Amino acid sequence: MITSPVTSPFLVIGGGIGGLAAALALARAGHRTRVLERAPEFGEVGAGLQVGPNASRVLDRLGVLDAVTTHAFFPTRLTLRDALTGERLTSLATGDAFRELFGYRYFVAHRADLHRTVLTACEETGLVELLPDKEVLEVRPRRGGAVVRCADGSEYSTYALVAADGVHSPTRRLLIGDGAPTDSGYVAYRGTVPMEVLARHGGLPEPDGMVIWAGPGLHLVQYPVRRGELCNQVATIDTRRYTEHAGDLTAQLRAAFDQACPDVRTGIQLMDTTRRWSLLDRPPATGWSQGAITLVGDAAHPMLQYLAQGACQAIEDSVALADSVDEHPDDIAAAFRAYEARRAPRTARVQSTARDWGEVLHVDGIGGRLRAALLADRAEDDYQAVEWLYGFDAAGTFGHTTRELSA
Ligand SMILES: Cc1cc2nc3c(=O)[nH]c(=O)nc-3n(C[C@H](O)[C@H](O)[C@H](O)COP(=O)(O)OP(=O)(O)OC[C@H]3O[C@@H](n4cnc5c(N)ncnc54)[C@H](O)[C@@H]3O)c2cc1C
Repeated sequence: MITSPVTSPFLVIGGGIGGLAAALALARAGHRTRVLERAPEFGEVGAGLQVGPNASRVLDRLGVLDAVTTHAFFPTRLTLRDALTGERLTSLATGDAFRELFGYRYFVAHRADLHRTVLTACEETGLVELLPDKEVLEVRPRRGGAVVRCADGSEYSTYALVAADGVHSPTRRLLIGDGAPTDSGYVAYRGTVPMEVLARHGGLPEPDGMVIWAGPGLHLVQYPVRRGELCNQVATIDTRRYTEHAGDLTAQLRAAFDQACPDVRTGIQLMDTTRRWSLLDRPPATGWSQGAITLVGDAAHPMLQYLAQGACQAIEDSVALADSVDEHPDDIAAAFRAYEARRAPRTARVQSTARDWGEVLHVDGIGGRLRAALLADRAEDDYQAVEWLYGFDAAGTFGHTTRELSA
């Protein structure tokens, strides 16, 4: 039996944070959207997510910031410490002065909380149809739109296709064709530990802050989530350097952190090692909007996690996309081109800086000593280095920082 494809104005592939944020931004602008997600349920794997003010600004505009932050933790500072000696290298104060400058606090949320909130908001618009269990196997551009075919044989046609299908995006392959993402050689372990368990081992060195322990080819990030009941931990190692016990995840991770200070070793002992993530990215590219097809989130600009910005950039994409569609209501191809022109310089800078920051975190020997010396006199309320990142306003007035706008 031949069935005609179901037609929708906007079709989003992928119901991760990027896809749902895009659907919500489009719905807020009055557009009907259908989201196809390959998983049997919409959800998020993983634990904590750091959210900078650049993304909070967008979440606020989308009307979900209060709900997203209900169970969030607001660290008073982000502190960089030496993983081997435990020495404090520098801090970034994220309290009142930070909020005054950027308009929003820095927060950390449970991924599932953020995802569920955006999902609920999508449902409440009455304009977003969410279809799980829909793995898209094929995307076919056609005149004035695209048709996608799913694993269950269903087909959907659309005037405007937004692919939010992640770092391995098959849609990107079709548009840009730049092969597989770059494997950095690093892997991350992530999970949560009840804070009371950590407390029995001495607790966090700064219970109201976030700490990044940086060492040679490794680092550990620790911060509270769910109102301080859980500690989120992300441990990262260079598998090319720490090859001992490579066949045994737990042994390899522990061996890598063997020389670390006692606080860090405690965190690593408690780390869930059942699963790990390869850290992949790509160099910045263009060409992610072609005709009636565009990319958002990791599909468009996958980045290393070191600036904690992958999801934040996906969130920024959402309003830039909706605003570009608003500006070109009768020409989707022009809207998608405008969206890419607006986003590409910004996301390229974040992608490249994330790679650089990884180098700073993971230096060894004399590099580590130089890092300590350079950071020694930095004031914790010196925001120069992060103004471009956190002051960015993706909601309409792109290219300006908060300070420029208020000047
Ligand atoms: C260890 C680690 C820590 C991180 N920490 C942070 C942080 O603190 N802050 C931050 O902002 N970012 C962080 N990130 C980055 C962030 O997780 C990603 O950038 C973000 O999840 C990207 O969202 P996305 O929706 O673009 O892609 P994804 O989350 O990958 O979602 C893609 C969705 O598409 C679906 N899909 C894929 N293919 C198909 C198909 N063919 N058909 C249908 N559906 C499909 C998938 O099932 C998935 O639901 C971190 C990343 C890592 C690895």
